[in-house]
Amino acid sequence: MFRKILIANRGEIACRVIRTARRMGVSTVTVYSDADAGSHHVVSADEAVRIGAAPVSQSYLKADAIIEAAKTTGAEAIHPGFGFLSENPEFVDAVEAAGLVFIGPSASAIRAMGLKDAAKALMEKAGVPVVPGYQGPRQEPDFLAGEADAIGYPVLIKARAGGGGKGMRLVERAEDFPAALASAASEGRSSFGDGAVLIEKYVTAPRHIEVQVFGDGKDAIHLFERDCSLQRRHQKVIEEAPAPGMTEEVRAAMGAAAVKAAKAIGYAGAGTIEFIVDGSHGLRPDGFWFMEMNTRLQVEHPVTEEITGVDLVEWQLRVAAGEPLPMKQEDLRIEGWALEARLYAEDPAKGFLPATGRLDHLEFPKSARIETGVRPGDEITPFYDPMIAKIVTKGRDRAEALSRLRAALEATEVAGSVTNIDFLARLAAHEGFARGQVDTGLIARDAEALTAPREAPPVARALAALAALGLPAEGGAEWSRRDGFRLWGHARSLVRIGEAVAEVETAGHCFSVAFGAERVGLSVWREGDRLRVDDGARIFTARAVLHGGRVTVFMDGAAHGFALPDPLAVGGDAGAGGDMVLSPMPGLVKSVSAAVGASVEKGAPLCVLEAMKMEHTLKAPRAGVVAALGAGPGDQVEEGAILVTLEPLDG
Ligand code: ADP
Repeated sequence: MFRKILIANRGEIACRVIRTARRMGVSTVTVYSDADAGSHHVVSADEAVRIGAAPVSQSYLKADAIIEAAKTTGAEAIHPGFGFLSENPEFVDAVEAAGLVFIGPSASAIRAMGLKDAAKALMEKAGVPVVPGYQGPRQEPDFLAGEADAIGYPVLIKARAGGGGKGMRLVERAEDFPAALASAASEGRSSFGDGAVLIEKYVTAPRHIEVQVFGDGKDAIHLFERDCSLQRRHQKVIEEAPAPGMTEEVRAAMGAAAVKAAKAIGYAGAGTIEFIVDGSHGLRPDGFWFMEMNTRLQVEHPVTEEITGVDLVEWQLRVAAGEPLPMKQEDLRIEGWALEARLYAEDPAKGFLPATGRLDHLEFPKSARIETGVRPGDEITPFYDPMIAKIVTKGRDRAEALSRLRAALEATEVAGSVTNIDFLARLAAHEGFARGQVDTGLIARDAEALTAPREAPPVARALAALAALGLPAEGGAEWSRRDGFRLWGHARSLVRIGEAVAEVETAGHCFSVAFGAERVGLSVWREGDRLRVDDGARIFTARAVLHGGRVTVFMDGAAHGFALPDPLAVGGDAGAGGDMVLSPMPGLVKSVSAAVGASVEKGAPLCVLEAMKMEHTLKAPRAGVVAALGAGPGDQVEEGAILVTLEPLDG
């Protein structure tokens, strides 16, 4: 076994690898960018090496700097985690050329699976079922349109170098094909430097079921399936293992196909064979098709670990160190059911706009397995993936795992950044999902109910008002008012919560909180860091946290945030009413389509901001004339920066 390894990654996966390495007595080196100095993965490792500035191109993608860091610290092998350099065959070549071991497959296996068209052709040859379609070299639009006709609509156009759902276009009718082809090809070119596409049959209401494989270069086995059908724009949201409705017959057929795929490329290490499955009439042994292979450890690997008892990172280290596969196929068993939900800093009510912020308050339930790379007080920066944590639960059966997931989501508390937690909780409570009726369209069909902003109940607002006043009075520092205002002896006080003014009357543990004509009467006691609340109708536990000019009230499994008045704020903000377009988050201005003096319609695109690895088009909040531009292409802007100023159309 290795004495020391370097982890070429950050965040939760770096922390995950460190945990197993430490248990195995292997020392760890991590690398970090300037934005990550002092972050969790850095302080957890035995050693850490700075590799550059915050942007990934200057840090986590700098292969040379990473290999150099391994050599200077005496690490013998490099674990790539996922993302970044994990599926980059040139990196594997460079690691091996430096005399180090890459903890993962060979460069040639990655190359074989790197392009969707070549991978599909290879799999077809190996006897693995693939989605019907055209994956050949010809790219003339007329030829491809003919292929699409032959396949039969609807079809899916995929950039062959694509990933993460990029460069994919669904086409329902032949007349839409040329435009869709042009845009998929151009997205392929701009995102991956490759405009070639393949065409395949679009499976309606499909399921995404993938098989975990493991190879040692000679032999390969599988560790059963995961169902990742709950997706939002082709991004996985909740994953589970095993797959609902799976039969032994279909499992054996999918497992055998996946092992065949892994053996066809002499695979070594952890990999995933993704299948698209027609689940419209139950799972069938002839109803699944190879989509692609991910030649790395997968984000959702914990659900497989939970049902098999295998530590996949341990297996990765063992196989990379030259050991044979630690287990035989016939010794692997499924025990129980596991679910994983991905907690992100993003705003579901605003089209899942990625968010940034300091995680002022962060608490996870002890009952769930939490995979995270952040601690309370850490910052979600615009430079990397905004994932906060993966919340993993296990049960004897699906119903038990699911009720544990619901409870774990309810007990997770985050303040300081908007998150998708409420969306996850609603998804976990979704009736169809509870019945195991999953397909990749479920989230989109019920998007409105799953993402509608939740209005704070009057009691939450009342608790926020009390917290802002330091009430109930006795207790810890969290509750003492910061400006020295003494409440004792006052029976009545006023406090601003968000846009409203609350009038609070106090008598011992009893409070009356009025927002205008609306009055809430409640009794509140402190119980440690929680509150026991009696609102007249019921008694329940809540929590109110003051942080960075805000109060967040956690009750009934939801978080309700309220702004406290900022003593420095000046009145008469000209930005109100949509005269200014502000940057919703820190980012890089990619392009500006607005020109000074031009009149624009409401909803017209004004500029494109790149942040959190995604592009966001900012649109005109109303019709008007562009009066001024606050930033140009290439400018790095802060959250709240004025990007465009509008004047009324008629001057
Ligand atoms: P990427 O590499 O961009 O993630 P994939 O080929 O893995 O692209 O596909 C991503 C998702 O798109 C799948 O999980 C599935 O939901 C959907 N998808 C892919 N191929 C098809 C198809 N032929 N029919 C229907 N949906 C598909």
